[in-house]
Amino acid sequence: MTKIACHPSDEMLASYAAGEIDGGLAVMISAHLEFCPHCRAKLAKYEEQYATQAFVSAAPDNHGDVNLDDMLEQIMANDSIPEKSVESLLNAPADTHIEVASQQFTLPQILQGQQQKIGPWSRLPGKIQRAKVSSASSSKMNLIYMDESSALPEHTHQGNEITLVLAGSFSDEAGTYHPGDFVIQDSQHRHSPRTEAGKDCLCLTLLDAPLHFTSGFASLLNPFSQLFFR
Ligand SMILES: [Zn+2]
Repeated sequence: MTKIACHPSDEMLASYAAGEIDGGLAVMISAHLEFCPHCRAKLAKYEEQYATQAFVSAAPDNHGDVNLDDMLEQIMANDSIPEKSVESLLNAPADTHIEVASQQFTLPQILQGQQQKIGPWSRLPGKIQRAKVSSASSSKMNLIYMDESSALPEHTHQGNEITLVLAGSFSDEAGTYHPGDFVIQDSQHRHSPRTEAGKDCLCLTLLDAPLHFTSGFASLLNPFSQLFFR
């Protein structure tokens, strides 16, 4: 796999570990983590830090006979993100995939079995298709499919735009992005995404994602935070 060049910020990962992050953004980060061992390792460190803090505050005297190290180890083991195996891809039921432009694409695990949240595909100008994804937040999530040799007109962003490449690749003035790349853009950025001949691209995008801390959805995604931060 091509090396992933674009990652969530450390602040985002720390907030995700604490379960203190906007629902839509939590989905984006979770999907990136499926691609990125580098960020999974970082996340594990943050979770360990939060767990230690939680244990310290939960057990001020520390005279109990519970082995905290063993507990921590068990929790970390249960919280790991399953790796995709060849077998699981071969035996994948239909709802792990989404079809667009007569092709099947594997959905990120966080969206698998969530087809009811994914709207129908609609065509945008420039050989682009879009399907809305409902998420528990005020920001707008979409699956965007760019056919080969397609382009979006140059644009800037009102707020934040996060793009996660799921399959294929696209380019803009700053570079070329591959599966797993987590591209963050704000009102400072101006770009015109495009695909090359013979290369299409499927992305998950989140528009105007405020980092306001909400409860609920993020903690469902993160069993660890559910245990310690509710
Ligand atoms: Zn990463």
